[in-house]
Amino acid sequence: MPLSPDQQAEIDALRGQTQPTLRATVPGMEAHLYKAYPVLDHGFVRVVDYMGDDAAICQAARVSYGRGTKSVQNDEGLIRYLMRHWHSTPFEMCELKLHVKLPVFVARQWIRHRTANVNEYSARYSILDREFYIPAPEHLAAQSVVNNQGRGEALTGEEAARVLEYLKADSSRAYDHYAEMISQEDGQQGLARELARMNLPANVYTQWYWKVDLHNLLHFLRLRADAHAQYEIRVYAEEICKLVADWVPFAYKAFEDYRLGAVTMSAQMVDCLRRMIAGEEVTEENCGMSKREWREFMGVVG
Ligand SMILES: Cc1cc2nc3c(=O)[nH]c(=O)nc-3n(C[C@H](O)[C@H](O)[C@H](O)COP(=O)(O)OP(=O)(O)OC[C@H]3O[C@@H](n4cnc5c(N)ncnc54)[C@H](O)[C@@H]3O)c2cc1C
Repeated sequence: MPLSPDQQAEIDALRGQTQPTLRATVPGMEAHLYKAYPVLDHGFVRVVDYMGDDAAICQAARVSYGRGTKSVQNDEGLIRYLMRHWHSTPFEMCELKLHVKLPVFVARQWIRHRTANVNEYSARYSILDREFYIPAPEHLAAQSVVNNQGRGEALTGEEAARVLEYLKADSSRAYDHYAEMISQEDGQQGLARELARMNLPANVYTQWYWKVDLHNLLHFLRLRADAHAQYEIRVYAEEICKLVADWVPFAYKAFEDYRLGAVTMSAQMVDCLRRMIAGEEVTEENCGMSKREWREFMGVVG
């Protein structure tokens, strides 16, 4: 488990305190609050705070004084309508604040999502832990032969063993040198932490607080919980999906139906689909699409 006993004690102490509040709370999310859910070999995701619930989305959409309608069915119907028609601002009324521990190369992909507030652990100020992401053997995959931006089957045999050994040994050696460079023992001045860290590989772990509204969080999840996303960020997105499902169940179900499990079709795809339904034999040759688009289309309807 990536948490030390002290860190776990802090979390337990926080979970031991409760306060009465007039604000909206969600039992499903209260159960998750502060807990660290492990991701990859040393990472985690934990909810530090949240604001709003399904009712808050409806409340904003209706600009109402109260907590939405009495009918839960009406609220769910409204949320599904908003999601279906890309009426996104009511979803921005809910916010989630996470504490995430993740490898630096995952953080580089994650930080591209600009519509969040981030505060990262300072490796200028603090000493990084000796923690490196080392893929499990089944995730030590070969370069994909069909997709330059992807991976294929897992490496096997001597090659797998050698690669794993390189990853472990290089990380360990880099950290040994990092620790040695910053050390002020034996009369050393010690290299500044802000410089020594440049010697660490991209699989070293960092941590941050990440706060985002629900609309932009769902955008993040649609891209990063998708099968095309790299496995190492996808597992974080999948863990967050579980939290969101417990936090705003109506919004999450609508998201699953209208975004995550939905497909976007080009005008040519829709035309092909209509021709197919009319009984015409549509092929790669007469579809009017590129090879790749045809492959993607067949992936949906084939
Ligand atoms: C499978 C996959 C592969 C990728 N491959 C690459 C790659 O090879 N190279 C690479 O560089 N990136 C790559 N990316 C990153 C990708 O291009 C986006 O940067 C990333 O997904 C963040 O998306 P976003 O900009 O929509 O999100 P956010 O930054 O959260 O923005 C959300 C939305 O807000 C709006 N917005 C935010 N900021 C601005 C702004 N300043 N101006 C105008 N509108 C704004 C846009 O509408 C945007 O869609 C990849 C992403 C995925 C999912």
